[in-house]
Amino acid sequence: MSEEKKEAVVLPEFIQVLVQMAEGNNFAEGSLDEPIADGERIIGEMNLWQKACYVRMNSLRKQASEAVEMGAEMESEEVQAFLREAEAIKGIFGISVREGMENKGPAVIGMRQGWILVDGADTCDCPVCQARRAGIDLSGDVEGMMVVEIGMGGRSRGPEGLLARLLGR
Ligand SMILES: [Zn+2]
Repeated sequence: MSEEKKEAVVLPEFIQVLVQMAEGNNFAEGSLDEPIADGERIIGEMNLWQKACYVRMNSLRKQASEAVEMGAEMESEEVQAFLREAEAIKGIFGISVREGMENKGPAVIGMRQGWILVDGADTCDCPVCQARRAGIDLSGDVEGMMVVEIGMGGRSRGPEGLLARLLGR
């Protein structure tokens, strides 16, 4: 038997929080409330670690906006610390989801009610996804992308919706 002295490994605090949340497995069902849309293909389900990342990321963002509402400057260390941690966890979350799909997942992954992961490119309304679905090759032809006949209606979500409006005629 080995007589080697075992050294304790102490995880960084922000990781410990995630591990404890995952172990606790006490996630509110309403954490994700967007239902699966018609035609969306289910590609998986979030595991405990991913749920912990998702819930923690949103909680940190909420804490940041609450601090701003209470009068803190956006640039203040208080607010930036929340946002930095949320951003780091978003990265960890993304790696975990992609790893779970052996890095062969779709270009866009959507998260839906019941901790379901869907192929977001199936229903994403951004110009690139719409063009792909229409079988239009956009490679290297940005000009062509501007005149392609694709509907810009429908749902508008975040930056992609904005991009769609900017590129829409
Ligand atoms: Zn898209």
